[in-house]
Amino acid sequence: MTDILIINADTILTMDDQRRELSGADILIRDGQIEQIGHGLQASAEIHDASGCVVTPGLVNTHHHLYQTLTRAVPGGQDALLFGWLKTLYPIWSRFGPEEMFVSAQIGLAELALTGCTLSSDHLYLYPNGARLDDTIAAAAEVGLRFHPTRGAMSIGESDGGLPPDSLVEAEAAILEDMMRVVDAFHDPSEGAMCRVGLAPCSPFSVSRDLMRDTANLARDKGVMLHTHLAENDEDIAYSQEQFGCRPGQYAEDLGWTGSDVWHAHCVKLDGAEIDLFARSRTGVAHCPCSNCRLGSGIAPVRSMRDRGVPVGLGVDGSASNDSGNLILEARQAMLLQRVASGADAMSSREALEIATRGGADVLNRPDCGRLEPGKRADIAIWDTRGIESAGSWDPAALLLAGPARVKHLFVEGRQIVRDGQIATLDLPRVIERQNRLARALQP
Ligand SMILES: [Zn+2]
Repeated sequence: MTDILIINADTILTMDDQRRELSGADILIRDGQIEQIGHGLQASAEIHDASGCVVTPGLVNTHHHLYQTLTRAVPGGQDALLFGWLKTLYPIWSRFGPEEMFVSAQIGLAELALTGCTLSSDHLYLYPNGARLDDTIAAAAEVGLRFHPTRGAMSIGESDGGLPPDSLVEAEAAILEDMMRVVDAFHDPSEGAMCRVGLAPCSPFSVSRDLMRDTANLARDKGVMLHTHLAENDEDIAYSQEQFGCRPGQYAEDLGWTGSDVWHAHCVKLDGAEIDLFARSRTGVAHCPCSNCRLGSGIAPVRSMRDRGVPVGLGVDGSASNDSGNLILEARQAMLLQRVASGADAMSSREALEIATRGGADVLNRPDCGRLEPGKRADIAIWDTRGIESAGSWDPAALLLAGPARVKHLFVEGRQIVRDGQIATLDLPRVIERQNRLARALQP
């Protein structure tokens, strides 16, 4: 692999342990890693001039449902709360198959790449008509992003008092068997891994207590992470109290769903005791501010989580509840939403960027990602700040306060994924056309 030398960056926001910010500096990439950062670096390498640009670690997306890029802004679900929104969309999702999973993942990952993301998780919890986790893994390999797919699941259908239609749920034995299959086939625990698999029953209201516990045991056997939705809104808390006789934090703790190998999406409604539980157990949170706004779920207490030491990352959530998948704008929204709750000094632009980079990497147990320093993976976003969005700014914090909202260049493991604002690994117009053809066929 050719060495790459990024030179003359206006500012490099390293997000290293000292949070160093370097002006007029260079980065040398060798064998997928950052070899050196400093001034006046020399190497026989492919040169990228980053003058006029801010360079950051690639952003990390800790929660998504890529398949939902095929059901953005569906009319019946545009103004519904979580449970009503789900009931509108389930019948459409039940018509998906392998091609829908593959193409929608390509679109979702390309959208993330264009907005600065180099590492994304995905939560796929329905497998109709022969769809498999493999379909999304194949898409990620084509786009070239570092990928943490999770094998999700739903097992309690309407006839058993659950929310999803019976056609979208699976037998629990089959779920556990497929979880083992995908971990054995795709999970790479090594440093610099491009694919790590997690296990992720959809939510406490769509699987049994037994499946939650069995999944936790299996994840620990296999040494993989656990992920689900938790405490998303008031309906979710009421369901937990009615069905399980306790709050979601207690439910999670009882079933083995706390620890540094677990991260939960949303956590909008965690109370003080639950935040302490998460901090104590190093349980991670995927904060999804746009989705929380879109579904009217509330404002997650991120200020309080961070102050007490809960690991917090950022997620765009699925494209049926965002309905965008722009990760840098998600970081901006995270910053703004804490300010709505707690005032203008509640979250700085730099802190929001930290959550979006090293914060997310830490939630996913990837200390090799999310910061720019020698020895870390060469996952790098280059933002051109000479455009209209940034005109008149002189502080790199303007990246979140002003813009731009798309990258100029993006590297993952030292490979260029975005070049001059275009996806370099896909014929994107062709993929968009294919996606729109599939979407038209899904319209009810
Ligand atoms: Zn979600």
